[in-house]
Amino acid sequence: MKVTVFGIGYVGLVQAAVLAEVGHDVMCIDVDEHKVENLKKGNIPIFEPGLAPLVQQNYEAGRLHFTTDAKAGIAHGTIQFIAVGTPPDEDGSADLQYVTAVARTIAEHMTDRKVVVDKSTVPVGTADKVRQVMATTLEKRGSNVPFDVVSNPEFLKEGAAVADCMRPERIVIGSDSDSKEVIEPIRELYEPFNRNHDRMIMMDIRSAELTKYAANCMLATKISFMNEMSNLAEMLGADIEKVRQGIGSDSRIGYHFIYPGCGYGGSCFPKDVQALIRTAEHIGYQPKLLQAVEQVNYQQKYKLNRLISDYFGEDLKGKTFSLWGLAFKPNTDDMREASSRVLMEQLWQAGATVQAYDPEAMHEVQRIYGQRDDLKVMDTKEAALQGADALVICTEWQSFRAPDFDIIKGALKQPVIFDGRNLFDPERLKNRGFTYYAIGRGSSI
Ligand code: NAD
Repeated sequence: MKVTVFGIGYVGLVQAAVLAEVGHDVMCIDVDEHKVENLKKGNIPIFEPGLAPLVQQNYEAGRLHFTTDAKAGIAHGTIQFIAVGTPPDEDGSADLQYVTAVARTIAEHMTDRKVVVDKSTVPVGTADKVRQVMATTLEKRGSNVPFDVVSNPEFLKEGAAVADCMRPERIVIGSDSDSKEVIEPIRELYEPFNRNHDRMIMMDIRSAELTKYAANCMLATKISFMNEMSNLAEMLGADIEKVRQGIGSDSRIGYHFIYPGCGYGGSCFPKDVQALIRTAEHIGYQPKLLQAVEQVNYQQKYKLNRLISDYFGEDLKGKTFSLWGLAFKPNTDDMREASSRVLMEQLWQAGATVQAYDPEAMHEVQRIYGQRDDLKVMDTKEAALQGADALVICTEWQSFRAPDFDIIKGALKQPVIFDGRNLFDPERLKNRGFTYYAIGRGSSI
């Protein structure tokens, strides 16, 4: 099938590459010329496991195309995906300007029937807005080319995005039409991902739009719940890791997504929790639980800084901290809303210097903060330790899980570790002579 995808970010590019991989002919449109030119040269703008070869092979095979030419791109596909960003507005609501801009562009150029599929995460009611923008634009053109709008929220996880799109757990389709002209193309498009069993969950558009927010808010709630428990565990002299295993063994709770830590980040959870709070407030409902989820997370992002100032004092002038992990989670280079950013900014404010290492986000930290004397970006995790006053861990990369503790001890001025992801066994570290602070495992072990 011929498909057009607007927006070649984490969602659009992965989805486009996966659709091309199963044989569809996919045209990607982005307003970022630099990104488009780079992709044509085989330079992939983001790090995502397995993505680079998938993009390169399908581009070379002629099933994946990149353009900034909206008119030609729109002519390509019957299905038009909207996969552009929906960043937070000033008040935390989802900013829909990119989504509506795409809707307008499609309506300006379309000459045959289109099924517009919204993949971006958008508040309930956005499909109506897209429909309205398109109808007004077509009317101005004096055109009555037919179109339909469908909601198809994306559930991929950064760091496992290719695998998630190749084998989706579910494909949620929201449509207010039972018409074959709408549903058939979508079914045919996703058929290759549906062979094992039918993963398509059909519903009305509003329910589909809310499903995406409900999923992310549920996951964020689990994290904030565990972080609240970890703070209690710390004060009560319990070990949250034992508590985690104790509750995870209950099949109604399960082990997934109940890891305590230094807060959730990324481009989705913070903005989606906030956006649903704003949606609720706009309709006169006070979302107390969601507000608490957000507040707990906000405070948890300062947790490591509090532990550090309890140990070293408020004034950190002349101190250097080795930081392992900048990305908001492992297997990505994405630092949007990452806990490492709060940590570094607070350390800088207190006068400290940061020696940072991350397996993938080194270019990203330099892009965000530029050159500064109090940020040293190091090539290896060992180099980041040299002469530092303590080691701080913000991301649970696999390569951090079993380090050589003798090297750490030898490189640091004093053997102190602040671990925001509970990677190590406290007893073992104590026996090795470390002062080890973790999340919810007692104040100093
Ligand atoms: P992104 O910022 O990585 O990419 C968005 C792309 O859209 C950019 O390349 C931008 O240049 C392009 N764009 C903006 N306006 C455009 C226009 N008018 N025409 C064409 N291209 C345009 O965003 P993302 O992380 O891929 O997220 C996209 C959407 O998917 C968001 O709504 C997000 O909430 C949702 N989502 C993201 C994830 C994730 O893990 N990143 C997962 C599920 C859903």
